[in-house]
Amino acid sequence: MSENNQVDLSGVLSRYGYMFPLTGSDRMRAYVWLRGWVLGIAAACERIDVLLGANKRGFHWTRVREKFGAPSLAYQMDGKARFAINIHRPDEVHRLECAARGDFDPVAVEIHELILQTEVQLRSQCIICGASSSITNSQGPWASLCAGHRTVDLAGDLANPFGSIWTAAHVAEGELFRDAGVWNPLSWK
Ligand SMILES: [Zn+2]
Repeated sequence: MSENNQVDLSGVLSRYGYMFPLTGSDRMRAYVWLRGWVLGIAAACERIDVLLGANKRGFHWTRVREKFGAPSLAYQMDGKARFAINIHRPDEVHRLECAARGDFDPVAVEIHELILQTEVQLRSQCIICGASSSITNSQGPWASLCAGHRTVDLAGDLANPFGSIWTAAHVAEGELFRDAGVWNPLSWK
């Protein structure tokens, strides 16, 4: 993250460029950036990069977007991760070990768990502002929204520059935007 509490998405994407190899329309479909989730995903990238160390194991994201309000993060990497089943509930990840650890890459195991934890965390972060949220259809489509964005009239107010929850939440890859923790998306009124 850069100075002035600005989030530099293109900086994250170039720093961890090997994680985002898709190009063209594949990239547009696979990576959809939502304002309130960018910091959490950037933090996951940073942590994954440290866990991988010098050997990146071909790690790359194949999907970073949302589906029915929930984050949908998919990736590929070399190394077996599943000596255990991660029981993945909306509010927790519980690891159940079911095979010998020695056959698996501990880094791959840790990264798999980290990504599931990131999904759990993002489920309860508003896609527009990053505040505490729940998945609701109160604005029409299912989306993870805070109390304010659940009720704010995004579509009906001509003074509102956003128009819908998706245009309010979406960030272009080249866009600098204010840190969700500082930015008050209700302040346009
Ligand atoms: Zn919000």
